[in-house]
Amino acid sequence: MSRTQGFWNEAAERRSWAEQQEVFGRELRDVVAHAHAHAPAVRAMFDKLGLEPGDIRGLGDLPKLPVTAKAALVELQRRAPPFGGLLAVPPTEIAHIFQSPGPIYDPVAKGEGWGYEEGLYAAGFRPGDVCINTFSYHMTPAGMMFHDDLTSVGCAVVPTGVGERETQVQIMRTLGAKGYLGMASFLVQIGEKARELGVDPRKDLSLEVAWSIAEPMPPSLRSQVEEMFGCVCRQGYGTADVGCIGYECYHLGGWHLTHRAIVEIVDPTTGTPLPDGETGEVVVTLFNRAYPLLRLGTGDLSALDPGSCACGRHSPKLRGWLGRADQLVKVKGMFLHPGQVQGVLREFPEVKRYRAVATRDGNRDQVTLYIDTGATPEPALVERLQQRLRDVLRIGVAVAAGDDSRFPADGLVLADERVWD
Ligand SMILES: [Zn+2]
Repeated sequence: MSRTQGFWNEAAERRSWAEQQEVFGRELRDVVAHAHAHAPAVRAMFDKLGLEPGDIRGLGDLPKLPVTAKAALVELQRRAPPFGGLLAVPPTEIAHIFQSPGPIYDPVAKGEGWGYEEGLYAAGFRPGDVCINTFSYHMTPAGMMFHDDLTSVGCAVVPTGVGERETQVQIMRTLGAKGYLGMASFLVQIGEKARELGVDPRKDLSLEVAWSIAEPMPPSLRSQVEEMFGCVCRQGYGTADVGCIGYECYHLGGWHLTHRAIVEIVDPTTGTPLPDGETGEVVVTLFNRAYPLLRLGTGDLSALDPGSCACGRHSPKLRGWLGRADQLVKVKGMFLHPGQVQGVLREFPEVKRYRAVATRDGNRDQVTLYIDTGATPEPALVERLQQRLRDVLRIGVAVAAGDDSRFPADGLVLADERVWD
């Protein structure tokens, strides 16, 4: 059995992205018509905008609809409890209701999954695998979410939940668990507990594939898991409200977009879709008949890379999690994010401290990266840094040596010191 090849939904995953856009267009028209007919809040939004469902004919018409921020969804539910006028099926269709911090209530219809199957399969989960699911099973959806989608893939799920590391080790060993679902950092803790108990995670446990979600996974954490257990570790990306948005395949290099929702990268201030490669907010439109969410703003930042992948999937890839939309600084017409600066500086271990500062001289924005290398920076280092910053941030950045006053204790990687008058 190959864990590195094959597809969960071959027809969809092997489809060209252009064809997929047409499929999305049809699904979008269907969900808009259904939501307009059955969800009072959607009808009210269309009325306010002077739109009819027929005005949304395809993906190009999506920007006619506003981006709904999560905070606005909370407010909508507060004013019209419990579901803010977004429920579009009779209550008899509802199987679960979850409460996430906000508070926000997410109804889930019977027979409706969360769409993680293609990602779990791409990571290497296969039918017959015994998997431990270490997410919490109450209030918030994570536990049930992965439970449902793992069983849908054909895995046998052990609902171990959070904590109890010693018992987790015992269960993994006794059942020969092949799969792990949870945060990568918790899996490291389980591995450490195993060693304390005299159990070698590589030799005495049978883990082959681990899936991490709900926390950033730096390369060092991934290698730690893979080396500790001798397994493959991949990550997924989604939210409590919408389920799966993206996932890593065996070949890495970003998060393939899901085929179950329309994912846009937009300018967080205007909601306008951005060209490939530019950093913006991740906005999701879900084809969910029970609880149709049209252009839900996740508040997360990412960028899209088009193109194909060695795995054979044609969906573009999200360039990982690049931070939160409210941390952006717009300079010279480009959005900059602390995560981009950090990403570049990770390649320069000789730089001990750094801070990028945006200033304004007359009407010109200027970004300066102050660095501390413990000595006067080598001109070659400065040149390499400037080149990498230009490649990634797409604007020119000055690099200068900083003294202590340049590195205050606030820990900001990107500071906006511009004065607007
Ligand atoms: Zn791939």
